[in-house]
Amino acid sequence: MFFDLFLEKVLSFSGKRLYRLLMVMAGLFAVQGVYAQDWFEAFKDRATPAQLHQFLYVMPKGGDLHLHITGSVLSEWIYAIALEQSANGYRYYSKQRIENCPSGLIGGRSTPYLLLYQTVDQVGFDALDPCEQQEYVALDEFTPVQIERWQNGLRLDKPYEGRDEFFSKHWERLGDLARNPYVVGEFLVRNMQAFAAEGLIYMEPQVPIFGFRQADGQTLTPDEVMALYIDRLAEKDAQDTGMTLRMQVSLLRFLPNAEEVLTYLYKFAHAYEQVVAVNFVGREDNDKGYPLRFLETLRELRKTYSGVQLSIHAGEVDEPNYHVRDTLLLGAQRIGHGVNLITDPDTLVDMRYGPYLVEINLISNLLLEYISQYDQHPFPEYLRTGVPVALSTDDRGMWDSTMTDEFFVAVTEFDLSWTELLMLSRNSLSYSFLDDNEKQRVLALYNKRIERFEKDFQRKGDKVFADAQPPRLGFICRQYELCEETSIEVTE
Ligand SMILES: [Zn+2]
Repeated sequence: MFFDLFLEKVLSFSGKRLYRLLMVMAGLFAVQGVYAQDWFEAFKDRATPAQLHQFLYVMPKGGDLHLHITGSVLSEWIYAIALEQSANGYRYYSKQRIENCPSGLIGGRSTPYLLLYQTVDQVGFDALDPCEQQEYVALDEFTPVQIERWQNGLRLDKPYEGRDEFFSKHWERLGDLARNPYVVGEFLVRNMQAFAAEGLIYMEPQVPIFGFRQADGQTLTPDEVMALYIDRLAEKDAQDTGMTLRMQVSLLRFLPNAEEVLTYLYKFAHAYEQVVAVNFVGREDNDKGYPLRFLETLRELRKTYSGVQLSIHAGEVDEPNYHVRDTLLLGAQRIGHGVNLITDPDTLVDMRYGPYLVEINLISNLLLEYISQYDQHPFPEYLRTGVPVALSTDDRGMWDSTMTDEFFVAVTEFDLSWTELLMLSRNSLSYSFLDDNEKQRVLALYNKRIERFEKDFQRKGDKVFADAQPPRLGFICRQYELCEETSIEVTE
């Protein structure tokens, strides 16, 4: 007030006019400030679910830090990629009927006899006896109905399908396709293209390196497999996506020789600059894979090797336990899922504003029944108490979903603010395993894109996304009935 009086006294008539003008401008700036905070709230209030989905598709995003590449490919892509493999000499067959072959009773099979739609390559097919061979049809001879059934066998889309279907059937149906490094190379590139189209700039997939073979059955070593991935990623169509990509290798945690495999993977990750981390996968409710089993091995490895980072699945279980705490003790910098972290208050408090990020997989957790509805998910508690989090897709090919869908679920279920959306995207880059220079580069790129997007939206309104046609896949259509809306209104 004193300042106001002072100005009134000292300013001339024209000065007073200038003063009033300044006050009006200050008021306008204040309104602008409120607008900057509230424009997203106003948009959410008036947007239809379809418009929100379009907006989130066009919105620049950061990275995906938690995805398994062989589970990240839509079934229709897999079918096309499988057929293209004739160029590399591979031909695939899938089990279409059960003929009650006597050989089905013989033990020691790698996949159960009674599993339809399992896929074998030519070498696998030739090894079957004539009775079992009759049960199979070559993928290149499928009828449209057979194509549809085979593709459905790789989707987790029925109310009665859940965790067991996923862990014990989906991967076996994929079968020999996941033993072909050219197929996995295509999986990488298709995901780079699709993620780039929905505004991502980084991905850190977990890739398989064991059990691969050439079309003639000749075994490929992990180094040969990695060389093929690196070659594929250097091709023009991969480079044209503009995506930055680093890989993780993963340990099936409950194997009898898991310590030996971990030692191999740790050295492997140390040897390749493209491989930035080791992960542990497989059901955590199998007690042969509990975290502390690996403490001694990792302590031994750290005596010799530096620079190997750890992102480890932990807390993806129904019951309360200390797996997240124990996994941090193993040296993990990031935690995959962390659903049951909420049951361990001491660790939860320690992780607030800490250096460890929890990779949140909202769609995966629902479909694999770690929660039965979203109000049970601890994500908002972590997000809003300062535990670093980012959204990721896990096995989106099998959920039939996208990263946009993860954001859609988060905004719809938990009413995320614009500030929270930005934080999730920035976390997905700043907690990546890129080196510091690369991290700064992708963060600067993200900041530039999101600033431009905000300005565009405030200037052009819904026109920014009106023409976007995000994929509307199975999960989002079923869960949110998003695909029934046909007309989309455009407002200025
Ligand atoms: Zn996972």
